[in-house]
Amino acid sequence: MRSLKRRVAARDNGCCYVCGREADEGETYDLEHKRPVSQGGATRDLDNLGLICQACHEVKSRVEAAEGNRRRVQRQRSTRG
Ligand SMILES: [Zn+2]
Repeated sequence: MRSLKRRVAARDNGCCYVCGREADEGETYDLEHKRPVSQGGATRDLDNLGLICQACHEVKSRVEAAEGNRRRVQRQRSTRG
């Protein structure tokens, strides 16, 4: 079976979809859902997948965690009325 990651890498020429940087030799990029699965993103749709470098992945994870926290806080506020 051809892996999704290889198909995405071939499509994007092995570049990070966020910053467009090409992987250095020996560097591996992660396969990332552009739209998080938790927000309705497709899991195996090539259109929703991209390669992401470590630096961008870290930033994205932090942003998503912060957004998750914000949503939780808003929910708590709205239930308190
Ligand atoms: Zn990047």
